Amino acid sequence: MADPITVNPDSRQTAPMVDPFGRHITYLRVSVTDRCDFRCVYCMAEDMTFLPKSQVLTLEELDRLCSAFVRRGVRKLRLTGGEPLVRRDIMSLFHALGRHLESGALDELTLTTNGSQLGRFARELADCGVKRVNVSVDTLNPEKFHSITRRGDLPKVLAGIDAALDAGLEVKINAVALRGINEDELSDMVAWCGEKDLDLTLIETMPLGEIEEDRTDRYLPLSLVRTRLAQDWTLEDIDYRTGGPARYSRIKETGKRLGFITPLSHNFCESCNRVRLTCTGTLFMCLGQDDSADLRQVLRATGDDAVLDAALDEAIARKPKGHDFVIDRDHTKPAVDRHMSVTGG
Ligand code: SAM
Repeated sequence: MADPITVNPDSRQTAPMVDPFGRHITYLRVSVTDRCDFRCVYCMAEDMTFLPKSQVLTLEELDRLCSAFVRRGVRKLRLTGGEPLVRRDIMSLFHALGRHLESGALDELTLTTNGSQLGRFARELADCGVKRVNVSVDTLNPEKFHSITRRGDLPKVLAGIDAALDAGLEVKINAVALRGINEDELSDMVAWCGEKDLDLTLIETMPLGEIEEDRTDRYLPLSLVRTRLAQDWTLEDIDYRTGGPARYSRIKETGKRLGFITPLSHNFCESCNRVRLTCTGTLFMCLGQDDSADLRQVLRATGDDAVLDAALDEAIARKPKGHDFVIDRDHTKPAVDRHMSVTGG
């Protein structure tokens, strides 16, 4: 059992955060660490330089910041990374944030994970009030899995998924569609998810951060994937929305949802309700833009939450209308320099 975090009483501003385009900010994603036990080829370089500890927010600072967002109207909190479950004592943050579920201030506390540590933590996550987890699995072939992640152990991840299901968590699988790597397997993944009673979301590779290879070679438009899947499965469009960029279909044969995240072929910025916080306290108002706000400096300068509230208002006033990712032969540079592991996927 993790050590408890000391919590300040929450007060101050409770006005909702509304950006200049009238969008209410109700969803915060937090990258709690830039470190990961995997090095997925499309996400990180093999040799990543990770941040020194002094730059990373403590768990108490993360709790204070997340709680400020909750007080200001965030209803859904997703912890991600890097790999959230490799951060030391991370469960103490889940326990602390669970109080916002109990008070009714928060609708959902969730996480995105590579699943490697789920066997250890699934039950404790459920105890903290977590109901759903997203687990990233790009292939069901153990050798391919090891080569995409450069070190991952697929049986361990699958055991982690089973542990999560046993703990009563709903599991959604995220898979990045990669040309020439897993494109021939996606139909099998739909079948596997059907058997295991899991929803599946497919993601287009996004131009975030320098990696060793040219992403153009791996980019697979999901419109093509969808056409191919429709040869094996009956896809029925459904109205299900999470406020995010995914559009969902139901697979008639399995009854499970299939999501498509298409930041390249389509973006859905007009309904964007989210902002993203890095583990250094930098707030990105858009995944695909560079503008940011340094909330660590505010946190460390004062314990006064009124000052923090003012910084949140100032940042949200700068949320841009949207982004415009492009992947083609004329745009081989990443759209933004930071990796997904920094901003949090
Ligand atoms: N370690 C956790 C995991 O594996 O789910 C959370 C962080 S990871 C950065 C979150 C998601 O982002 C994963 O599903 C990963 O596949 C996806 N991702 C990372 N880099 C990406 C990129 N360049 N384009 C699209 N998806 C990416």
